Amino acid sequence: MPAERVYLDHAATTPVDPRVVEAMLPFFTEEFGNPSSVHLWGQRAEAAVESARHEVADVLGCAPEEILFTSCGTESDNLALRGMAFAERERRGANRILTTPTEHPAVLRTARQLSESFGFALDLVPVDEYGFVHPEDLDRALRPDTAVASVIYANNEIGTINPVAELAAVCRGRGVPFHTDAVQAASQSPLSVGILGVDMMSMGAHKFYGPKGVGALFVRSGLRLMPALTGGSQESSLRAGTQNVPLIVGLATALVLTQEESSVHNPRFSALRDRLLAEVPACVPDARVTGHPAQRMPNHASFVFRGVDGNALLAALDLAGFGCSSGSACKTGEPEPSEVLLAIGQAHDWALGSLRVTVGRGTTLANIEAFIEALPAAVDRVRAAKVSQA
Ligand SMILES: *Cc1c(COP(=O)(O)O)cnc(C)c1O
Repeated sequence: MPAERVYLDHAATTPVDPRVVEAMLPFFTEEFGNPSSVHLWGQRAEAAVESARHEVADVLGCAPEEILFTSCGTESDNLALRGMAFAERERRGANRILTTPTEHPAVLRTARQLSESFGFALDLVPVDEYGFVHPEDLDRALRPDTAVASVIYANNEIGTINPVAELAAVCRGRGVPFHTDAVQAASQSPLSVGILGVDMMSMGAHKFYGPKGVGALFVRSGLRLMPALTGGSQESSLRAGTQNVPLIVGLATALVLTQEESSVHNPRFSALRDRLLAEVPACVPDARVTGHPAQRMPNHASFVFRGVDGNALLAALDLAGFGCSSGSACKTGEPEPSEVLLAIGQAHDWALGSLRVTVGRGTTLANIEAFIEALPAAVDRVRAAKVSQA
């Protein structure tokens, strides 16, 4: 067993900041009221939810009424896409969805279901070899009957940061509502919706040192959505159900801390990331960096290795004490390469060997040096096992 285990999968989830735990605790016990109740217990819970809404709104530079709380980043993406698609079809007969091939499944599979089961046409904007979406390509793909356009802010698999403000401006010029999935970006990128110019933006707390199971969605005032959950009038009647008060308090606390402290963490993350991006291809034969070389998340390094089984590599790294992830989803023994890697033009035998290394607040330079030292042997072992199987 390795002496120390090193977690390098902060794009999958992050530990909850102890200050966030502290802020949440009273709302599990003494402050247990239902925010919709009229009495004092209810008023106190409602005050906590509304103060969380103000805190999130302050970070985004929007009005509190423009923030909705949901159960996760996935739900925020679903509410934005479905809610806007159905509302725009009802309002103006718009019957197309526009997104990209490099979205998280929370957007891409939602768009596919809207197309396959609900009669919307689905258009995909092409991306370049880095998974970067160019504004002129978005402009070319927009149609007058596009109900909603959605482009990921920072890509979870390959780290590329899209030019969201320019993409949003293109959509605004054409009168099409623009959504961005900022679930990955929220931990490190600027979130001012005034500067970004987006109409809707999704976030999920567990990607920025908050709790799992809570998300937020910004919806610009004046836009109409079809409700996701019908029932009570919580969350402007767009998302019925008693609010999860402790988790909402946790999301707001975590977001404020993350954004306040990003100027401290980001430069340190970038230095660790740059070390990985430079040294991994230098010490492993047949290795490539995936995603944008410069426009990428400060904490995110990703690679492909030719002729490597990505899942076997993750297992070998886990044995060596390192927790990383890959882009490929293993389908009953027959691994499928990630759609994102195929969309950026990686060949099948490269795309199967993907590796994502994402650093966080607890990662040290010594951790990264140890990882770089362990990786070549792990890749060799996995390649050798594959040859002996054949
Ligand atoms: C993690 C992630 C999601 C899903 O968020 P959950 O809160 O886990 O549901 C959506 N989009 C991106 C880009 C993500 O990284």
